[in-house]
Amino acid sequence: MKKYNFNAGPSMLPREVIENTAKQILDFNGSGLSLMEISHRAKDFQPVVDEAEALIKELLDIPQGYSVIFLGGGASLQFMQIPANFLMKKAGYVNTGTWAKKAQKEAKLFGEVVEVASSADKNYTYVPKNYTIPADLDYLHFTTNNTIYGTETRKDIDAPVPLIADMSSDIMSRPVDVSKYTAIYAGAQKNMSMAGVTVVIVKDDMLGKAPRELATMLDYRTHVEKGSMFNTPPVVPIYSLMETMRWVKAHGGVKEMDRLAQERAKIVYDEIDRNKLFRGTVVAEDRSLMNICFVMNDEYAELEKPFFDFATERGMVGIKGHRSVGGFRASCYNAQTIEGVNALVKAMQDFEAQH
Ligand SMILES: *Cc1c(COP(=O)(O)O)cnc(C)c1O
Repeated sequence: MKKYNFNAGPSMLPREVIENTAKQILDFNGSGLSLMEISHRAKDFQPVVDEAEALIKELLDIPQGYSVIFLGGGASLQFMQIPANFLMKKAGYVNTGTWAKKAQKEAKLFGEVVEVASSADKNYTYVPKNYTIPADLDYLHFTTNNTIYGTETRKDIDAPVPLIADMSSDIMSRPVDVSKYTAIYAGAQKNMSMAGVTVVIVKDDMLGKAPRELATMLDYRTHVEKGSMFNTPPVVPIYSLMETMRWVKAHGGVKEMDRLAQERAKIVYDEIDRNKLFRGTVVAEDRSLMNICFVMNDEYAELEKPFFDFATERGMVGIKGHRSVGGFRASCYNAQTIEGVNALVKAMQDFEAQH
């Protein structure tokens, strides 16, 4: 039976990315060796890193003066690597959910942290707006898409201080004004590749100013200067990242990804709003296009498990909501298809007709 993959991360990738990566795993560029067993310094691998980097710069229209590096450790390592490199005295964090809070916790190890705004009061069902950002912050940290709660900010915010963003779950889904940011980071396994590589986009003139001695591996300069080859980088994830970037480019770039994301999300949210069994979990204006969260209406609460089983029988995978929200979450990253969201909506309609 056909499966419709709504996993939140690692998540669905374009079929051709998986097939092309599988081919290279069997025989890398006709060398007779697997992509898994070549040296990262092999002359055929450098062009892969170069192309992945060049495509990210092209697709996000990254201005001069920024570097793109590939690291290990996930976005979670960035929670501490960001403050290690950039927190001199005081940093500001906007608390919009689990990941934002985890980032904030790590920063406290390096200096003073101000929680500039928070939506914890309403279980992260909205994104705070109209808060004052102190002018004396070293940086403001912002999470553009809240993967667990299903809220998102698809417009680059204005900050009077250097802006740093965790874009793990919505990078490459819309055009971004990179010039507004000092750094952008993203674990690649939501929208760019398989798990194992983290992309960091960093403004060069902000590097080397840390007021502390940094371990070599934690200093962004190490990786910028060595072109992400200071140590062995995650070879296969970088390869599949390059393939995904080719796919994004071939499918119209981030503008088209944005259009498709809006189209898919509208199909699902319209059904959530129409269907008597379900309701959305967050305020309408902050709804994420990437992670669509919904629950059973109160009077149908006992139908949660039956709907899950019903949808699973029809091939839906990964629609269980995160335990801190409950209900359902349909993740619709770039590779998600209109066919996939239509199959989910059909399941919701057919289930409604039975009740
Ligand atoms: C998944 C996710 C993370 C954690 O990523 P890891 O690569 O697992 O460390 C951090 N932030 C956001 C917004 C995420 O969606």
